[in-house]
Order: sequence, then structure tokens, then C-alpha cells
Amino acid sequence: MAIRCGDCYSLLEDQDHVVLDEFNTLRHTYCGYDLVSELVQDVGTYKNIKEKYQFFGEEVK
Ligand SMILES: [Zn+2]
Repeated sequence: MAIRCGDCYSLLEDQDHVVLDEFNTLRHTYCGYDLVSELVQDVGTYKNIKEKYQFFGEEVK
């Protein structure tokens, strides 16, 4: 399943830096820059977040 940025709806690329919020929405860091820090669960490249939170990848099947 392709995951899109919750803000600009562009497809996320492995090397994109993304922010994960508490609703499991992913945004580019530059799209989510105004997120309240309390809502931010994690920050990293999309690749790293995907590997860390496997539920993103397992919905494919
Ligand atoms: Zn974006």
C-alpha cells in the first residue's frame, strides 16, 4: 500500500523525512512543521519509520 503525506498527498519516498503523529498519520517534516510537539510520535526517514512501525507495510496483503 502506498502511503501519502497527510498534508500534501504526495506519495512518500523512502528517503523523505517524515513526522508520525499520534493518529498514525505521516507527513513530510516540512508539511507537518506546525504540528504540536505533543502530537508527534516519531520523526525520521520514511524508510526507518516503515521498518520501525511494521503495520504500515503489513496492510499490503
Ligand atoms: Zn507533504
